[in-house]
Amino acid sequence: MTFGALLMEGKERLRAAQIEEWELDAWYLLEYVTGMSRSRYYLDRECAAKEAQVLSYRELIGKRSSHIPLQYLTGSQEFMGYSFCVNEQVLIPRQDTEILVEEALGHLSPGMEILDLCTGSGCILLAVLKLKPGIKGTGTDLSRGALEIAEKNRERLQVEAEFLQSNLFEQVEGRYDCILSNPPYIPSAVIDTLMPEVCRQEPRMALDGGEDGLYYYREIVRQSPAYLKSGGMLFLEIGYDQAEAAGELLKQDFTGITVKKDLAGLDRVIYGRLRP
Ligand code: GLN
Repeated sequence: MTFGALLMEGKERLRAAQIEEWELDAWYLLEYVTGMSRSRYYLDRECAAKEAQVLSYRELIGKRSSHIPLQYLTGSQEFMGYSFCVNEQVLIPRQDTEILVEEALGHLSPGMEILDLCTGSGCILLAVLKLKPGIKGTGTDLSRGALEIAEKNRERLQVEAEFLQSNLFEQVEGRYDCILSNPPYIPSAVIDTLMPEVCRQEPRMALDGGEDGLYYYREIVRQSPAYLKSGGMLFLEIGYDQAEAAGELLKQDFTGITVKKDLAGLDRVIYGRLRP
């Protein structure tokens, strides 16, 4: 079987399974299995694939057809220009979350200490530490499985960071210059309306923000003042319709409240500074 025929078969199967990005995903899986670049493929597409390549490609196409996200199959996702390892224990890093990192970077300077709650794959914390040397970072998550991935990513990116298993602030000590979080924020009843890749495959505990989606914002905003240094800042990723509610929560103890939009023009990040 040639590489060309194999790719064609993959595309057809993904299209039949109604995978949104069927063409791209079929290609990425072929690239993953064979290690060949696009240009290599065009040179070699009439060459025969090895039996083992055919078998593993078909197996992956089968899994992708059952809506397992591409990133859980290849085990990685790019975020802020770095490759993070992922598995089904963590939310797949989203491009939208880069807005949170970029906003925070603009307010950080060497010597500061930062805390990332619900760190998941560690993508937020580790990207910040990588891009802003001289910062001390701690990440927490309730999920042991997520922390194992975060620790792997710390090795992969070669940065120093401390990870703690903790329900929000429970195991956290001391005060920080900045707290960051992309907590679960989907209202419970909305989760099952999301695409199957998300609602059936990504960890529900990384998505579920309680009945109104605001549970974690309430907890984080209420407890943050006790963990922030004077003038410290809190950065939160929010859902497209949560800026007003999150702003109301922040107003009590924070000033300079700012909302930033994502590339789709939707509210995505809110932040403020602890009122003196
Ligand atoms: N902080 C991680 C991320 O942004 C995980 C977020 C989550 O699990 N809700 O990808």
